[in-house]
Amino acid sequence: MTRRFDGEKLVIASHNAGKVREIADLLAGRGVEVVSAGGLGLPEPEETGETFAENAEIKAVAAAKGAGVPALADDSGLCVVALDGAPGVYSARWAGPDKDFGHAMERIRVALGEDTEREAFFVCALALAWPDGHCEILEGRVDGFLTFPPRGEKGFGYDPIFVPVGDSRTFAEMEPDEKHAISHRARAFRKLLDACFAE
Ligand code: IMP
Repeated sequence: MTRRFDGEKLVIASHNAGKVREIADLLAGRGVEVVSAGGLGLPEPEETGETFAENAEIKAVAAAKGAGVPALADDSGLCVVALDGAPGVYSARWAGPDKDFGHAMERIRVALGEDTEREAFFVCALALAWPDGHCEILEGRVDGFLTFPPRGEKGFGYDPIFVPVGDSRTFAEMEPDEKHAISHRARAFRKLLDACFAE
């Protein structure tokens, strides 16, 4: 049976400030005190999984055990159809040690070459884990198209090259509220809130 979150404090198992901010926004008004794994000085476990769900579980369980309170982890990334789903679980790693997403976006453009197929999707797996190792995992996805050169200053990561289906702007050209309404993370979140959080 699905386990529900009934605590007051939740660790966000991420050292990525962009993600922590988005997750805190999505949890606003739920009466949950949110702290980040980075803020608690918890080490970042190695992401050895082959799927978003596996990596989310690795991060959430490590943080929940380390902090002694439930932890929520997001593993997400961009999958480019013409590149057989790359960068996928390697989305962060394509940006290199300097986390240079200008470089990562250029790498995608070069890999696509003359290929005119521009379909892509973002996936988000959310894992909510407890200190005893129990874990619930929910996934969300948003489909869209890639555009070059990158456009927009908002958001983070690959947002400047991703145009969601039904819009002509990139995620980086949208206000945070607009992105939150349709993003892969928001969709996974709605599932998580329905499954694990009381109204
Ligand atoms: P990880 O889940 O921390 O391993 O890294 C996921 C990576 O995917 C991030 O560093 C971003 O590059 C990318 N990513 C995930 N979600 C988004 C998003 O909403 N916008 C842009 N890039 C994203």
